[in-house]
Amino acid sequence: VSKEVQLAFNQVVKRIEPLTRLGTDTLKPESDLVRMANGKAFWRFTPRISSNREEHTDRLPRYVTRVDSSSELDDITQQTVRDAYEALPGRIESWLRLNSGTDRKLEPSHCFDGPQIFGSEHKCVPCLAAGWIKCDGCQNGYNDCSDCSNKGHVPCSRCHSFIWGSTGQEDCRGCGASGKKNGNICPTCNGRKKVTCTGCGGVKTVKCKKCKGEGRLPHQMCKATGRLTCQPCQGTGYLHAICTVSCVVEADFRVALADPKSEVVSQLTHRDLDGLRRLASVTQRAPVVSGHVVERQYDVECIITELGLQVGLEKLELIGYGGRADIFDFKRIVPVILDADLAALDQAVSQTSYRLWGHPEELVTTTARFLESEVNVRIDDEMLLSDGIVDAQYVERVKTLLPAALGKIISANLGLSLLVTALLSVAVFLICHFSHLRTEMGGWVFVPPAVAAIISWMLFERRLRGRLGALLFGADRGENEEADEKLERLLGQYYLLWKARGFALLVVTALLMLTALLPLPLL
Ligand SMILES: [Zn+2]
Ligand SMILES: [Zn+2]
Ligand SMILES: [Zn+2]
Ligand SMILES: [Zn+2]
Ligand SMILES: [Zn+2]
Repeated sequence: VSKEVQLAFNQVVKRIEPLTRLGTDTLKPESDLVRMANGKAFWRFTPRISSNREEHTDRLPRYVTRVDSSSELDDITQQTVRDAYEALPGRIESWLRLNSGTDRKLEPSHCFDGPQIFGSEHKCVPCLAAGWIKCDGCQNGYNDCSDCSNKGHVPCSRCHSFIWGSTGQEDCRGCGASGKKNGNICPTCNGRKKVTCTGCGGVKTVKCKKCKGEGRLPHQMCKATGRLTCQPCQGTGYLHAICTVSCVVEADFRVALADPKSEVVSQLTHRDLDGLRRLASVTQRAPVVSGHVVERQYDVECIITELGLQVGLEKLELIGYGGRADIFDFKRIVPVILDADLAALDQAVSQTSYRLWGHPEELVTTTARFLESEVNVRIDDEMLLSDGIVDAQYVERVKTLLPAALGKIISANLGLSLLVTALLSVAVFLICHFSHLRTEMGGWVFVPPAVAAIISWMLFERRLRGRLGALLFGADRGENEEADEKLERLLGQYYLLWKARGFALLVVTALLMLTALLPLPLL
């Protein structure tokens, strides 16, 4: 047996042995083959120099190389790109003189001294660089008030008469405009029959409501400034264009490899250069330059170890890569090894029903045997899936069957706990009732039974853990830390104790409520 085959088999043993109760005695190496997979790798660098034009408002920023006009800007940009492409072969050549034998990447700075930024600015035409244009909806921000003809006041309507206009006087209401009250001279108007108008205070006019006395109307659109912000320049008075000439280098690494095994092709072509070097012997050849494209070329040679294993009735073929024969896909080896255990558990679960008493012998034995395989306890470990040690279907089955099995075993151990807890809480309630505490405590009367139930349940849970440890791992509680840890992991993972607690809460509450509703006599 060659070194690589031994290494590959050792990996299987090392990974599988701690995970399954059956160990690796069941694995029989059937066939082995060590060969080479040959291919080529290409690392291609494609530099692209291009310009990008942007239009902005406002003045030209200081860091920009300034030219005089927009057409000049286009000219210098195009010229810069042309010059850069002309210089490119020379720059690549001198870069390769230093870097041909290395794995260094071609960077934009090797191809072009950039980015280079050019710009031109010009004054805004519509606003003549002022940033604003005159508002054509008003005169200097205001419009005429038609209500008062720009006087700010209008004739008082209270003292207005058709013939005389506004007089500033109105009829005296104290005497009904007669001048006399109870035969005497009216004290309000002193017999004049008229009094000063309360609308205008005698001045005959009132403030114009429309213009609030200002005599003109401020224009809303220009906020009474008479100016509107110039839209093309956004009020800055200037417009400018910026052209940026820059270089990007696209890098593309690919492996060309033909192999009769599709797994070999996919494993070796989906790695970068570093990843490939870790597995295979990678030899660089002279780089090839065509046009502006630089291509590094490599010969790839990887040792492939094919290890055929007979597992039960199935034959698995594992593939190791490189000198250490690293295996990346274990081809769901655990489900194959533990096939019979899973089938037995499935059968035991379906044949056992939920009960509160008794000892489901068959289910306990099968579950205990199932849990002897570590993999079933730590089924949530993502690594197991990603390495192909288990498959998604197996994980799904374990996560369905195991809580069902454990749930049925736990429920069979719950009968006494439920009975004692429920009766204890009822008894405490009755004591409270007959000792007349109930009438004094009101709603608080349920607290002592609840406390009794919680304490009782906690004690029974302790006992349950001990029993489960003994049943499933053959360990007395406290004596075997590893078994304790496994049990806690299982109970936590599937929320089994919480389900039992919920059930107990329901039973105790129902019984307590029934008792509380009974027409109990007071002694
Ligand atoms: Zn403008
Ligand atoms: Zn205006
Ligand atoms: Zn007015
Ligand atoms: Zn009067
Ligand atoms: Zn008036």
